[in-house]
Amino acid sequence: MEADSTRELLLQITESVRWYMESLQEGGVTGFPRAATPSQGGTGERGNGETEKLRRGEMSATPRVSESPSPQVSSPSAPRPQSVPPPTVSSVVAPQAGDLFLAPTLQTVKTLEELRAEIGDCRRCKLCQGRTKIVFGVGNPRAELVFVGEGPGRDEDLKGEPFVGRAGQLLTEIITKGMKMRREEIYIANVVKCRPPENRNPEPDEIAACEPFLVKQLDLIKPRIIVALGTFAAQTLLKTKTPISRLRGVWHTYQGIKLMPTLHPAYLLRNPNDKRLVWQDIQAVLREMGRL
Ligand code: SF4
Repeated sequence: MEADSTRELLLQITESVRWYMESLQEGGVTGFPRAATPSQGGTGERGNGETEKLRRGEMSATPRVSESPSPQVSSPSAPRPQSVPPPTVSSVVAPQAGDLFLAPTLQTVKTLEELRAEIGDCRRCKLCQGRTKIVFGVGNPRAELVFVGEGPGRDEDLKGEPFVGRAGQLLTEIITKGMKMRREEIYIANVVKCRPPENRNPEPDEIAACEPFLVKQLDLIKPRIIVALGTFAAQTLLKTKTPISRLRGVWHTYQGIKLMPTLHPAYLLRNPNDKRLVWQDIQAVLREMGRL
């Protein structure tokens, strides 16, 4: 039995690494910069600058270790060019492959409160630069049903609570009027805990950095059913690139938990005719819960 569970754990880790690498590759990353050590001139500023340049395609994605040393970068006394403003948040740590395994510190976490404390004033990805508040999650820590969204918007960022803006009001209506449940009965969380600038889509490195927190939340809550709201929640949890239009309306499994993908409430605000599709999905959830 122990060998079986070890094998299953290894398979899960292998699958997570494979998915993480594919996501980075699709984001244009073909290699990792070597993590800087304090003796190499600091970690955060350099790592973040490289990540940003890689993202913009302004530099090669090959590891910096193979490059010739540049006096302007390696010399602590070299003046910074006037045209380049200093980073506003210098302590941001660029995500490394090892961030996937920040899980060792999470393994000892036993409650959602402890998990929130572990996240702290998180700077594990660049989304920390524009956020007002980390939006951890809200609801019943023993919820039978968990909704997982994409990431905070403006209202959520200001309040520190998921789904409180216009899309959140629509989700609340789905819960209270459609499902005849209270928001407090369920749990609501997002894939990324900080607001992406201008509500852009979260990027693969940001999802990879933040996903372990969602994984741990779900592990602690142990819901019977998860509803994944929109593309990013469904694709992240199911480790797939299949579009939401093909994922929704069908039961899937996440870590042994039944998972129903459906359309994001923000999408429904723009496409109200598709509310009927979400209602179909929610009815399937209600049937599974014995409420219909
Ligand atoms: S999005 Fe997640 S990983 Fe990135 S800074 Fe916020 S809490 Fe940390």
